[in-house]
Amino acid sequence: MQEQTLLIIKPDAIERHLAGKIIQKIEESGFEIGAIKKVVLTKKQAEAFYGVHRDKEFFSDLVEFMTSGPCIPMVVRGENAVHGIRELVGATDPEKAYENTIRALWGTTIRKNCVHASDCEKSAEKEICFFFDLCSIVI
Ligand code: ATP
Ligand code: MG
Repeated sequence: MQEQTLLIIKPDAIERHLAGKIIQKIEESGFEIGAIKKVVLTKKQAEAFYGVHRDKEFFSDLVEFMTSGPCIPMVVRGENAVHGIRELVGATDPEKAYENTIRALWGTTIRKNCVHASDCEKSAEKEICFFFDLCSIVI
């Protein structure tokens, strides 16, 4: 089934000039970019985006990290894109991620893991709307 999901290139990857490699990996894996932009999240936006983790001990460090530099959110589209992109991204901890996943290739720590990807269809829909207007997504 054709699906859309949200992927964010996080500040650590942008600082290390990995955005191009990550986009190439996504395209080579058969997915298409539907919309893309570069943003700097405010503290409030980062707190809202990762609101499900509000009570976790890593929350304030996560918010600080996500606001430490620009991010590149994008809508990624393709066959089973939600699950497929999560697979391509790999486990949260780069050390535990399967070989050749984005986090195994370029992630450095459990926090600085280069990318975010929506974890289910419902999150994907919500997270796409967080960053993009419907009219900015190329059909
Ligand atoms: P994401 O939501 O960014 O795609 P994920 O779904 O693999 O990642 P989550 O459990 O949703 O993992 O955690 C969100 C983010 O919080 C992680 O990607 C990572 O940047 C950070 N994080 C998660 N667990 C830890 C931890 N134990 N210590 C530090 N940072 C963490
Ligand atoms: Mg998550």
